[in-house]
Amino acid sequence: MCALADMTLSGSAVDFIDDAALTDLLAEARSDPVRVREIIAKSLDKQPLSVEETAALLAAGGVLVEEIFDAARELKRKVYGNRIVLFAPLYVGNRCVNDCRYCAFRRSNTGAIRRTLENDEVSQQVEALENAGHKRLILVFGEHPDYDADFIADTVKRIYSIKVGHGSIRRVNINAAPMDYDGYRKVKDAGIGTYQIFQETYHHETYAKMHPVNTRKGDYLWRLDGLNRAFEAGLDDVGIGALFGLYDWRFEVLGLVSHSLYLQDRYGVGPHTISFPRMRPAAGVDLDDGYFVNDYDFKRLVATLRLAVPYTGMILTAREEPALRREVMAFGVSQIDAGSRIEIGGYTEAGDAQVMEREQFTLGDIRPLDEVVRELLTDGYIPSWCTACYRLGRTGEHFMEFAVPGFIKRYCTPNALSTLTEYLTDYASDETRAVGENAVRAELDELPDSQQKKELLNRLERIRKTDERDLYF
Ligand code: SAM
Ligand code: SF4
Repeated sequence: MCALADMTLSGSAVDFIDDAALTDLLAEARSDPVRVREIIAKSLDKQPLSVEETAALLAAGGVLVEEIFDAARELKRKVYGNRIVLFAPLYVGNRCVNDCRYCAFRRSNTGAIRRTLENDEVSQQVEALENAGHKRLILVFGEHPDYDADFIADTVKRIYSIKVGHGSIRRVNINAAPMDYDGYRKVKDAGIGTYQIFQETYHHETYAKMHPVNTRKGDYLWRLDGLNRAFEAGLDDVGIGALFGLYDWRFEVLGLVSHSLYLQDRYGVGPHTISFPRMRPAAGVDLDDGYFVNDYDFKRLVATLRLAVPYTGMILTAREEPALRREVMAFGVSQIDAGSRIEIGGYTEAGDAQVMEREQFTLGDIRPLDEVVRELLTDGYIPSWCTACYRLGRTGEHFMEFAVPGFIKRYCTPNALSTLTEYLTDYASDETRAVGENAVRAELDELPDSQQKKELLNRLERIRKTDERDLYF
């Protein structure tokens, strides 16, 4: 039976966002070079920053901002390596009981074409994604009784079972409405990776303006508590995010850092990822642009987040234009989507990816995966489709996406190289394959001789010459 979640909060749900305290921190922070440099040094030492220290970075002006940019680049390059994990969104259904003012799926948008993928349509979309070379998906749903935990869990299981040629989806993440305890258990049992919930805005008054109180999403605490319930149901791999453009971007950065520290404190594990979507044009949406974030401030917020949460993966989506993505990537982004389509059925049907009535919002980067992979390689990144940690149970407190250099050498780099070799062998254009094979050789040259390197070389040969796939450390 389909039903919306039972709205029982977690064991000790608490609203840990104090608007006045965060606002005061921002108002009191001064651009102080000595302090900012001390904080940057702490971050380069991979220590998470406090909310107050983050506010001090946000107050920095002039040349100090350049130092923050440089530090974020340094942290990314020297500490976290050059891998970028690639994924694609799959929009499963856009029916929605909510009325979020910024979103084209809101129930009052009667012009939206409502659709939910049928089982065979899910298969077709997934086959198209596999044929392009994708291995990691995020499923996106509106909030609706049709999209209950059973439906989401069944969709996840179906997707894992679909295999075309050498293709398979090895990790399915979810972006959907907050669930109740039983719901999270069901989707965990279906084998999901990360469960993402964006608070949208941490500012209570703005939250109330954007989400009418008579809707499910109108309950701020139900949403803020959403990932607590996930943890309590045993799901320790969660993603947070804010939709930038609804309220002061600096406040939202402090909200994200507060949320991250809260989860770390309460459950011993911070969020696996932070997302920072920026408002995009959407059908029928006409928001006051007073809080829209310009490119310079967007770069500042990404660099500041990088420094504030050194252990957390950061996701930059195709909402942004290619040139800006390229620049912002260097500030410590760890995951991007590529070849994305967000209209329902868009991987097989659309042709025109910018049909407003069918989309939640418009995308800034609709280049094919192959082109994005080639650009990444040309810029010195190693595209990765690695899913080893989650499949070997290296999640939650046992899992640090980037932080330990020895860990990167032992697991991340070899797994990135074998998934990249799979992509180059099975899906890449000749041009991308040529650039990619050079990059793989260069990375291998950097790896010291060891038994593991021998094994890796052997595996890469097997991938190139045989049907063996999905080999990971
Ligand atoms: N319905 C679920 C929910 O609200 O949690 C799933 C999320 S929604 C389909 C995915 C995310 O897209 C939202 O959480 C929001 O941050 C973002 N979004 C909505 N409208 C947007 C817009 N006009 N521009 C950019 N991002 C938008
Ligand atoms: Fe529905 Fe999510 Fe869009 Fe809000 S953001 S209208 S809940 S799909």
